[in-house]
Amino acid sequence: SVSRVYSEINNDRPTEYSDYENFEIDWGHQSNYMVTQKIGKGKYSDVFLGKCLINNKKCVVKVLRPITNNKIKREIKILQNLFGGPNIIKLFDIVQDKTSQIPSLIFNYIENVYFRELYPKLTDFEIRYYLYQILKALNYAHSNGIIHRDIKPHNIMINPKTKEIAVIDWGLAEFYLPNERYNVRVSSRFYKAPELLVGYKMYNYSMDIFSLGCTFAGMIFNKDILFRGKNNHDQLIQIAKVLGTDSLNDYLKKYKITLKTKFKKKIGEYPKKDWSFFVNESNKNFVNKQAFDLLDKMLLYDHQDRITAFEAMEHPYFDSVKEFEKKREYLL
Ligand code: ATP
Repeated sequence: SVSRVYSEINNDRPTEYSDYENFEIDWGHQSNYMVTQKIGKGKYSDVFLGKCLINNKKCVVKVLRPITNNKIKREIKILQNLFGGPNIIKLFDIVQDKTSQIPSLIFNYIENVYFRELYPKLTDFEIRYYLYQILKALNYAHSNGIIHRDIKPHNIMINPKTKEIAVIDWGLAEFYLPNERYNVRVSSRFYKAPELLVGYKMYNYSMDIFSLGCTFAGMIFNKDILFRGKNNHDQLIQIAKVLGTDSLNDYLKKYKITLKTKFKKKIGEYPKKDWSFFVNESNKNFVNKQAFDLLDKMLLYDHQDRITAFEAMEHPYFDSVKEFEKKREYLL
C-alpha cells in the first residue's frame, strides 16, 4: 500500500535530496565548542550541554557511539533537509574528534522539563497547544518526505517557561518511497504502531501518528503509558485490549497479513473499550468529546485510514490554539 499523502516527494526531488549514502559531510571545527555537563544518554549517543565559543550560546553536543557511517549520514541529511522547519531541532554543526574520529552533532539547546514531571502539570489548553506544535513538526517532516519513526515523550523537548518545543532524535528517521518495504524494528515498544507489531513492512508516515496518539493519550489521561506491553507480542495484545479484536481482524484481512497461529490464539478476543474507561478524578478536566474524537482517529489499526498530521491540525480540538496563535501573530 502507498501513503495517501506526500507519496512522491522523494521521487520528485533531485536525487541528492535523499541519497544520503553518497553525500559528503562538511565538518566544522571541534575547537569551537566546549562541553560542560552530561544531560542525556541514548542507545546511540551521549549527550552533553555545551557552549559555542563563537557566540557564547549554550548548545547540545550529541557524541555518537560507533554506528555505521550510513546511519550517521542519514541522520545528518535528514536534519539538514528539515532545518528551520517548525518545532524541529536545529543541527548547527557537525564536528569530529581529531584523535578518536568520533563524530558529534551540535544542536540548539532546549531547557526542557522531563515529561514525567511536566505532563501532569499541563493545563487543558497547554496540552492542545503542544500537541498542535508537534503536529506542525510532523506535517513539515512528512511533507518533506521524511518519517520520524521514534515519536515518544522522550523525544519531545518542551520549555514550559517560553513554550518553546522541539522534536529531537532523528536518528531513526527515514525517507519515504512508495511501495518500499521498511524495517519494522523501529520506534520504542510502548509507542509502536500496529503495522510494526504485525510485521507489515510497507508502512508510511502514518506510523508517526499512532505513536503521537499514544503520547497524546498519556497527556490527557495523566497516564504514564497507555499501552504497556512486556514484549512486542504483548504490545499488540495491550493495544487489542483497548481497540478491540474485531477491527484488528478486519485490518489483518484487508492487508492479507497472517500472524503465527500460536500468536493469534494468544491474542484472544476483546471488545472495543470506550475512552471513558480511562477517565478518573485526576484527568476528568482534560478529557472531552473533541479530544476523544481526535484520539479515535489517530489510534486506528488501519494505517491508511489514520488521520494525517495536516488533517489533525484542522480538527476542532485545536480551535482555541489557532485563535491564540492568530492573536499572538497580531501582537508580535
Ligand atoms: P535514543 O536512545 O532515545 O534514541 P539517542 O542516542 O538517539 O537516544 P537523543 O534522543 O537525540 O539521543 O538524545 C538523548 C537525550 O539527550 C534526550 O532524551 C534529551 O534528554 C537530551 N537532549 C538531546 N537533545 C537535546 C536538546 N536539543 N536540548 C535538550 N536536551 C536534549
